[in-house]
Amino acid sequence: MEFIDLKAQYQYLKEEMNQGLAQVLESARFIGGTEVSQLERRLQEYTTRKHCISCGNGTDALLLAYMAIGVKEGDAVFCPDMTFIASIEPACLLGATPIFVDIDIKSYNLDPQSLEERVREIKESGKFNPKAVVAVDFLGNPAELTEIRNICDKYDMYLIEDAAQSMGASYEGKKCCSFGDIACTSFFPSKPLGCYGDGGAVFTDNDEFAELMRSIKVHGKGVSKYDNVRIGINSRLDTLQAAVLLTKLSVLDEEIEKRGKFADIYQNALQDIVKVPQIREGNISSFAQYCVLFHSEEEKDFIAQRMEENGIPSLVYYPNPLHSLEAFDNVRQFHKGDFRNSQEYAQCNLGLPFSPYLKEEDQKAVIETVRTAVEEYRKMH
Ligand SMILES: *Cc1c(COP(=O)(O)O)cnc(C)c1O
Repeated sequence: MEFIDLKAQYQYLKEEMNQGLAQVLESARFIGGTEVSQLERRLQEYTTRKHCISCGNGTDALLLAYMAIGVKEGDAVFCPDMTFIASIEPACLLGATPIFVDIDIKSYNLDPQSLEERVREIKESGKFNPKAVVAVDFLGNPAELTEIRNICDKYDMYLIEDAAQSMGASYEGKKCCSFGDIACTSFFPSKPLGCYGDGGAVFTDNDEFAELMRSIKVHGKGVSKYDNVRIGINSRLDTLQAAVLLTKLSVLDEEIEKRGKFADIYQNALQDIVKVPQIREGNISSFAQYCVLFHSEEEKDFIAQRMEENGIPSLVYYPNPLHSLEAFDNVRQFHKGDFRNSQEYAQCNLGLPFSPYLKEEDQKAVIETVRTAVEEYRKMH
């Protein structure tokens, strides 16, 4: 059984995919070209955003965003304690101090109330300038984007949407990537819209930010690549990846619908014995992963082992809350906060096999194995 069945997706899209790739190979144009500009236009339309700018990966997308809003030393950037380090890492590279915030245990997303408390605390301490919040659509579930936007407005901060896991998802009828001053996504193969290597993109409605990011991603270009007006980076989506993404984008909505159906099946079959992700009414998750929470770390390890014995893969997304990572040892003194929920999540979560191409009989086997193992474990304890 596959954890994410990219092989089945390729078989489904093979003809169109091969054709798209062959076209790039024939043209021998591997950087830029019509595929890249076509993809940017399609994604810009898909997300209803004014600008879409492709780049090398999701981490670069976040770096471009943080550079565009001018993140620097002395700034505080607020980030959910449970996410991939890339959500905040580029801000730290620019000298900012990360301030971690606990999550809501039902949605696994940044808790707006804890956010406001932390912002107020940092502001009162006078040590840092509260600069931005990165709202992560964790596992594809849209963050509390309205509440977070209001907090950003109230305290004069920028909002960055980290939509690396949520392409195709929507919040109150609006597509993810359309929120925040700048939104960032990743096309890493396992993401809801993944290419066959690395890729990413930024989205914004702000012309000034768009122009800045277009310059920064090409060595700080001015009128040309050799007229450099600022220090930038080299970050581009290559043409072959753009061709892959054009093919996959054409079935994204259809895939999101299938993800929703498989998620419903997991939810109905498991919610009486484990915590399952809660998606707010009116929102659609892209379910980049389907992670459930067991009662304890020990129970989770037991279930994972039983699954493995039955040939069923599982993965933990993610095993460590950011505040606990050695990389952040130097800022730990600022984290007297309570991370009860992100800690519980980190210890108890397990991702189940999930993709739009999940086979019905495989999902049944996962459910049966999990239920049997939970029963067995709870009888012993
Ligand atoms: C994957 C991911 C990123 C980084 O994307 P890359 O393309 O791997 O650089 C950033 N944030 C989140 C939440 C992610 O899941």
